[in-house]
Amino acid sequence: MSTSSESGIVASKPIKKTPNDFVFGKVIGEGSYSTVYLAKEIGPGTEYAIKVLEKKHIMRERKTQYVMREKEVLMNINHPFFVRLYYTFQDADRLYFVLGYARRGELLDYLHKLSSFDEDCSRFYCAEIVKALEYLHGAGIVHRDLKPENILLNDEMHIQITDFGSAKIFKEGDTSEENSSNQRKNSFVGTAQYVSPEVLTSKSASKSSDLWALGCILYQFLSGEPPFRGGHEYQIFQKITKLEYEFPEGFNSLARDLVQKLLVLDPDKRLGSDEMGGFDALKSHDFFTGIDWDHLEETKPPELV
Ligand code: ATP
Repeated sequence: MSTSSESGIVASKPIKKTPNDFVFGKVIGEGSYSTVYLAKEIGPGTEYAIKVLEKKHIMRERKTQYVMREKEVLMNINHPFFVRLYYTFQDADRLYFVLGYARRGELLDYLHKLSSFDEDCSRFYCAEIVKALEYLHGAGIVHRDLKPENILLNDEMHIQITDFGSAKIFKEGDTSEENSSNQRKNSFVGTAQYVSPEVLTSKSASKSSDLWALGCILYQFLSGEPPFRGGHEYQIFQKITKLEYEFPEGFNSLARDLVQKLLVLDPDKRLGSDEMGGFDALKSHDFFTGIDWDHLEETKPPELV
């Protein structure tokens, strides 16, 4: 719809999309509460990944707040290293999130295929995650469930971080319980292998919890497995709170130093936290020598082979 003013300037209101504006194709993924379809917009022919959520299922499972959180966070993010939310709409039974299509799928699949990444790939993808976190934290958002499964890849093999159902938006200057601590008391946020000790002990996640996850991910890139492993979640949690992990032989020494500076029990003492010099200090670590931080998204990623 267009409205013309006396000045003759025509302002056009964005038209709300509907499912009829898209041709739905194959299923590209299934989550616990959603099905993701490859879809093409009729007319422009642009491809998207459309996440479809059944309202009844979400309500039955009491997941409404996570779905709303994901939408709110995605609407606040505008950066090339994150999956972009283009449109949302709904019909009587379903919610639709129209997302940028990360054609190359999950980074985890590449890790499984290759067993581990070489140093160049580990450095490059770790740097992209650092750049993404710098943006995210700068926007006052903590991801809280960072892991290789939630890192998708676009056509050019750059990262597209997704899954903001556990994320938290920090309001500046708000120190209330609601803002400073985890709202899901008695349950941890995230995934066992990547969860930070403070989430396990005090149930509070901060920006620094994402830095812990980054340490776990870098370790996994180079060794093929996350640092804290066990048959049961309880065993994994025990190891995390005791900082019980070992480096395999031959682990790159600069990467080892970086991992050790990220996997620190005190969240304020992790490299990249405000107290430890923030992202500038993290980006200056010797492991990242050679990374062109200002042009990462234009840099051709090293081949994952
Ligand atoms: P759960 O809800 O169980 O934690 P999830 O968060 O992975 O699972 P979804 O976000 O619905 O659930 O995604 C399901 C799968 O669809 C993902 O594992 C991913 O492989 C694929 N997928 C999701 N978003 C995109 C996207 N934008 N581009 C390409 N594939 C996607």
